[in-house]
Amino acid sequence: MRWCSAALLVLLFGACGGDDDSASGDSGSRDTAVDGSVGVVGRIEITARDEARRPSPCRVRLLSRAGSPVRLGRVTGSTEVGELIGEGAVAAFDAVSAVACDGLEVPVGFGNYDVVITRGLAFESVTTTARAGDVVDVTLAPVPGFAELTCGDLHVHSAPSFDSDVPMEQRLIGAVAEGLAVVAPTDHDAVGDWTTARDVIGDAPLEVLLGNEITPDHWDTPIELGHVNMIGLPLAFDPRDLAMRGPLGDVLEGARDIAPGALLQLNHPRWNRWNGWFAHIDFEASAAQLEELVQLDLLEVFNGHELDNGSRDGDVDAVLLDWYALLNTGRYIPATGNSDTHRLSRSPAGWPRTCTRGRFVDAVFAGESFVTSGPSVSMRLVSADGERRPGGIAQGREHTLRVTVDAAAFVPLESADVVINGELIDSFLVTRGVEVEVPITVEGDSWVVVVARGDAPLGPEAGGHARPMPSIAFTNPIRIDADMDGVVVP
Ligand SMILES: [Zn+2]
Ligand SMILES: [Zn+2]
Repeated sequence: MRWCSAALLVLLFGACGGDDDSASGDSGSRDTAVDGSVGVVGRIEITARDEARRPSPCRVRLLSRAGSPVRLGRVTGSTEVGELIGEGAVAAFDAVSAVACDGLEVPVGFGNYDVVITRGLAFESVTTTARAGDVVDVTLAPVPGFAELTCGDLHVHSAPSFDSDVPMEQRLIGAVAEGLAVVAPTDHDAVGDWTTARDVIGDAPLEVLLGNEITPDHWDTPIELGHVNMIGLPLAFDPRDLAMRGPLGDVLEGARDIAPGALLQLNHPRWNRWNGWFAHIDFEASAAQLEELVQLDLLEVFNGHELDNGSRDGDVDAVLLDWYALLNTGRYIPATGNSDTHRLSRSPAGWPRTCTRGRFVDAVFAGESFVTSGPSVSMRLVSADGERRPGGIAQGREHTLRVTVDAAAFVPLESADVVINGELIDSFLVTRGVEVEVPITVEGDSWVVVVARGDAPLGPEAGGHARPMPSIAFTNPIRIDADMDGVVVP
């Protein structure tokens, strides 16, 4: 497909001619007429509101009644370039995202469409049926379990990356539409200036943390070492200053020296030997391996890109086991979850994400957070001397765990596991929003996390990954100093 002006209309008519998207490897990614129709016959006008009736951020995905997505925007290789279709609104591949969905006009052909309207995972979605000429006006209600939480995605790619074409403005619109409060652009050995791009989202409350993904397999002399994100960089940071060579410990030391204020996150650790350090090193939490991680702040346990990159070794459950092994050594490295998106609509930002109560960066650093692709998990440990949340340290042997799991109606949710020192000690069926108490007795120092799961993967609300996204959320640990000696060594 060759790009034309008046893009949306022309694309929907399929009238540009030619074809350049064969490299994407995505079957069905060609721009074809809508649902076999003769093209655009009209528009569906969509308004999404918050509970105060104000226009809210939203993402609109149209599905033909046969279930196939409507094609909007352009596919370049495996990534996407959307078309700005108004102030703070972008149409890309099969979805329209907007900072404020207020009379958003989405072009369609003949027939009825399923219209899926979302605002990320912390708001209910609305799915309705509409056809050209219809006006859809919906309210997206907040999910109570996410009240007062701040959620962010600490790993997204855009045009400064060699492997993403997503324009910076469009990335920010997408982040707002997914309900994110924080986003960290972490392009491959590149730090962009997002100041101008930010104008497109107006006064939307999105914090942009400058970042960089250290990518040794693409250095002039490629190194098999895995990828590391630096999060919270000054604009003046020059990735070329990282002219270092492994091992990982030296890279982390160097990154720390150059940018002492940045968080260092080990990314997609099981992807493969080039891109994931755990795969590279055959990680088993040995003392020598832990030596390399002295400067590490965060471990990306859940990476959304793994659903698209063909790796199953990097699936969240596999990396959870690595993380448990790490925690069992007494080395406390908080978990994060990020999209690692290189696209706009097929792998939207914020799926998964990391949510906190406090100031985002400080709370993520302290592990006062949980990771989620759908559910919220509130975990409190009540002890004789008070109550702790993730990131906290309790004292003594007898405790009561209080767990509340919640989720939007479109998020499959079945059960929650209580895991202590890597062992499953209890599992219960979840009723959304209802607190469950679990008595906890530990003999020695311990850590406890809760993992909530759905009995089915997520649907189109989570985008269109090559493999479906599991519905899962897990907390960072509360540590228990059972012998009250001031250190926690499980
Ligand atoms: Zn990477
Ligand atoms: Zn990445």
